[in-house]
Amino acid sequence: MNAFADKPWLSAYAEGVPATIVPPTGSLVDMMDATVKTYTSAVALDFFGATTSYSLLGEQISRVANGLAKLGVKAGDRVALVLPNCPQHIVAFYAVLRLGAIVVEHNPLYTPRELRHQFEDHGARVAIVWDKVVDTVLAFPKDIAVRATVSVDVTRAMPFGKRVALRLPIPKARTARAALTSSTLSKGAISWDTLVTSRALRRSHPRPAVTDIAVLQYTSGTTGSPKGAILTHNNLYSNALQGAAWVPGLQPGKEVFYAVLPMFHAYGLTLCLTFAMSMGARLVLFPKFDPGLVLDAARTTPPTFLPAVPPIYDRLERAAAERKVSLTGIRFAISGAMNLPVATVQRWEAATGGLLVEGYGMTETSPVAAGNPIGPSRRPGTVGVPFPSTEIRVTDPDDPSVDRGFDEEGELLVRGPQVFAGYWNRSDETAAVLLADGWLRTGDIVRVSADGFITIVDRMKELIITGGFNVAPSEVEEALLAYPSVADVAVVGIPHESGGEVVTAAVVLVPGAVLDAPALRQHCRGLLSAYKVPRTIVQVDELPHSLIGKVLRRQVREQLTRTAG
Ligand code: ATP
Ligand code: MG
Repeated sequence: MNAFADKPWLSAYAEGVPATIVPPTGSLVDMMDATVKTYTSAVALDFFGATTSYSLLGEQISRVANGLAKLGVKAGDRVALVLPNCPQHIVAFYAVLRLGAIVVEHNPLYTPRELRHQFEDHGARVAIVWDKVVDTVLAFPKDIAVRATVSVDVTRAMPFGKRVALRLPIPKARTARAALTSSTLSKGAISWDTLVTSRALRRSHPRPAVTDIAVLQYTSGTTGSPKGAILTHNNLYSNALQGAAWVPGLQPGKEVFYAVLPMFHAYGLTLCLTFAMSMGARLVLFPKFDPGLVLDAARTTPPTFLPAVPPIYDRLERAAAERKVSLTGIRFAISGAMNLPVATVQRWEAATGGLLVEGYGMTETSPVAAGNPIGPSRRPGTVGVPFPSTEIRVTDPDDPSVDRGFDEEGELLVRGPQVFAGYWNRSDETAAVLLADGWLRTGDIVRVSADGFITIVDRMKELIITGGFNVAPSEVEEALLAYPSVADVAVVGIPHESGGEVVTAAVVLVPGAVLDAPALRQHCRGLLSAYKVPRTIVQVDELPHSLIGKVLRRQVREQLTRTAG
């Protein structure tokens, strides 16, 4: 029996937060239209000070939709977006949806090989691509379906005389070519301008239904290779409504959202592309996170709402202190994607006077499934409680039909309107995580208190089995990070010839520090049971991270296994 069936967490909700949301009846396009109508003259987008009003944004979306229709885009077609955060990204996103077509988001910094794999998987025939990456897409082999490539020059959306060099870390092989082609249109590409100067789409053009697919969102590939999660209009619109219900005192038409998270990732997509739009917010766009750029913008247009990840809050708070820039006025900061250290919360809240609260979710939940209540009942160190209209269970990791009770470790299962519709072209992998009655297996090991607060223990796939015990790498990593000379760390299990795994830590030290493994182990023994203390500690120069900043333990494990063998 599900111990959490009667939703014991509802009494922890902040005042005014409903137990359920009213399900959306329209699509994201209807949501966008309503915002454009309501907030006509308000600023929708702000890119280094160049602003776009909601009415102009609506107009551009309609023109680009028509331009795409002329390129042959129809309902159900996939259209690839390979763009950093920029005004054209928002326009392209809603223009594709307007036609009932499906947006496929991509990381523009992916290598040509990684991009090609995704294109093979989704089969988009039209791609809207950052000009620095256009040549990669144009050079795809003939068996890739792309027939039209639209080139986007991001700097054209910046104010005249104030063009900012982006210096994004494009893989080296591409920089030489990109430098040559940056101001001219690559042969075979279509310019973005030809789309925005099209006539507006006919109003009578068919529109998507709320049940249609809106987006294919590739997971970040932290534990396996990326798979395309199918997110419907209902999934994404529901998550925006759940978010709006969660935050008390939001002022539609008045909020200033900072988009420092990449919008091609599920987290940035929902917070900045859909939630901000549903609020009629001013969205200040950053093509990459750079504390200097953010603090410059904050001088003229301070944010009221800043979704990010823990390393961003730390860097921003340090940079602001160094430059003596005030961060007060940032009322809400929402952290997700990885564990939020309590020390980060304390420093951030002291600097801003606002709240920093942690949420939890995954690409497959569009992405937010749980959050800390925004009010006195929040519990730092936990990821909070399930969102409105969301149910949870905790089950035996080997058998999801066996429920676990309060405070017992088990796999978290989630059910709600934000749970995705399956993986694109992967029915086996879909069946493995999406149970027949709508429950999603998250693959995360958690403990849930009797009043519904969720503590993440670790990822099932990354638990280390040593001498019959389970070790959660994140707990060991946290202990190591508390040691002053440790700057970054990954803890993994390395297979041992006698069976089982050896707890192994790869550490990056602060500059000038020397590895003293016995002292580090001694420090761990003060914080952890003996079997969790890493047997092997190796020093490395740097560790691989996903674009959103998660340490890629799978890669570290492969590397260390190779060097050990
Ligand atoms: P892949 O599934 O391809 O390996 P991924 O799981 O990293 O990649 P995402 O969907 O972006 O891709 O990440 C979701 C995961 O991130 C969750 O399953 C969970 O493990 C982790 N996560 C999310 N929020 C938190 C949080 N607040 N604290 C700890 N872990 C979190
Ligand atoms: Mg995942």
